[in-house]
Amino acid sequence: MKRVLFAGLFHETHTFLDGITGLNDFQVLRGNELLLRMGDSSPLGGALESAREFGWNVLPAIDYRASPSATVDDEVVEHFWSELKSVIQPPIDAVFLILHGAMVSKRIVDVEGEILDRLRRMISPAIPIFGVFDLHANFTQRMAEHANCLVAYRENPHTDARQAAKLAAGLLQRTMTTGKMPRMFWRHPPLMWPPTGTGTAVDPMCSLERLARDLENKSPNFWAVSVCAGFSFADTPDTGVSFAVATIGDEYEAQKALSELADLAMDKKSDGNVLDPPRDEVFARLNPLPSGLTVLVEPSDNIGGGAPGDGTGLLRALIKNSIANAAIAINDPQAIRELSKLPIGNKTTISLGGRSSRLDAGPFTLEVELQRFGSGQFQLEDKQSHLASMNGDSFDMGQSAVVHHGSLTILITSNKTPPFDLGQWRSQGIEPTKLSVIVVKAAVAHRAAYDPIASRMLWVDTPGPCTSNLRRLPYHKIQRPIFPLD
Ligand SMILES: [Zn+2]
Repeated sequence: MKRVLFAGLFHETHTFLDGITGLNDFQVLRGNELLLRMGDSSPLGGALESAREFGWNVLPAIDYRASPSATVDDEVVEHFWSELKSVIQPPIDAVFLILHGAMVSKRIVDVEGEILDRLRRMISPAIPIFGVFDLHANFTQRMAEHANCLVAYRENPHTDARQAAKLAAGLLQRTMTTGKMPRMFWRHPPLMWPPTGTGTAVDPMCSLERLARDLENKSPNFWAVSVCAGFSFADTPDTGVSFAVATIGDEYEAQKALSELADLAMDKKSDGNVLDPPRDEVFARLNPLPSGLTVLVEPSDNIGGGAPGDGTGLLRALIKNSIANAAIAINDPQAIRELSKLPIGNKTTISLGGRSSRLDAGPFTLEVELQRFGSGQFQLEDKQSHLASMNGDSFDMGQSAVVHHGSLTILITSNKTPPFDLGQWRSQGIEPTKLSVIVVKAAVAHRAAYDPIASRMLWVDTPGPCTSNLRRLPYHKIQRPIFPLD
């Protein structure tokens, strides 16, 4: 039986946010706790399922994961490493990692590269290091150098995260049965895109993914060709779009493929720099209110990208423009504490949202009527959703409240909740298909859930830390020149 060490490290770090993401913000699984994820909808669950099919002897180490947020405390990285190190007991036949690929700590700009480097120093070069990672990774030369085969998700929204993990596990099985050991090559053309430009249903990502699959099909040496869209809200030298090839062939062949991918990305660079129209322009299209459901997308407060989910830009605009039959979710644990004392059906005046970002206009004061108060735990309706790639089968919004202000419905949560699953609304008695307007604080990843119910989807520019206009962000460490800054 092959002994395969399993570990996970998952954080998408937004380095322009205030504050620090500490150890307490991470959900940690240790030892046999990892095995409980077997078969669930997460990448870890998928990889463990493959391990069982292949008859591996899984050595479950640790899994650290947190929602996208501010720069990580160095202590988290050192804790992770010391825990991982302590469970590496030879003999081990392989290592399988569940990574994000865009984690930054105060001192380390490339946490995954650092961990892979330390891991490689500890174990023999003959031991394969395989794994799966998020399409939004800021991949690096160091990651490529110290891993044998890391496979990116191929879809954004990440409907295939579990599948990508199973693909990577299948490739590790290939190495363990054939003895063939791939190595990785990487290329980073001088460009980055905001998250709004990284959906795989459209260009440039659609063409890049297609070319990556063509390259895999044409060369039997290529085990995995990964397109990394990058995470532009991190100020690191390697932030941006890049490509990684895991191959058993020679370097020349890999570099040729990387050139093709980089050239195509440069050709289509402007297509990926998607900017959002201003509020007034978008709200003019809502008067008169068109029929069917209009989804207003607010990328600057994109929870999946690390934003606080309490921005008041669109809340204010909905009220100012008297938009009827609309709904918005705002994360505000302080408002929840205030509402916890109010009987259902009563009215009160609260200050809502606007507490977490310097770019917001601040808390918005309004009178609301409390309709519902209680648990925000819900089961995902779509077990292949982007949310499942981060959290598995269920999500906890914490204590949550539904309030009304006129015909506006506001879902207030205690835990910020990426709007990637309609169970968020339905679990609270709100039927999204019956609304005229719904706000989602996202860029692209909401589309798997909302495309089927939306009559139209309008992106809106508001002040917030996940702005699609990258020129507004104060980069210092990123390699210059880079598109679209230069
Ligand atoms: Zn992602």
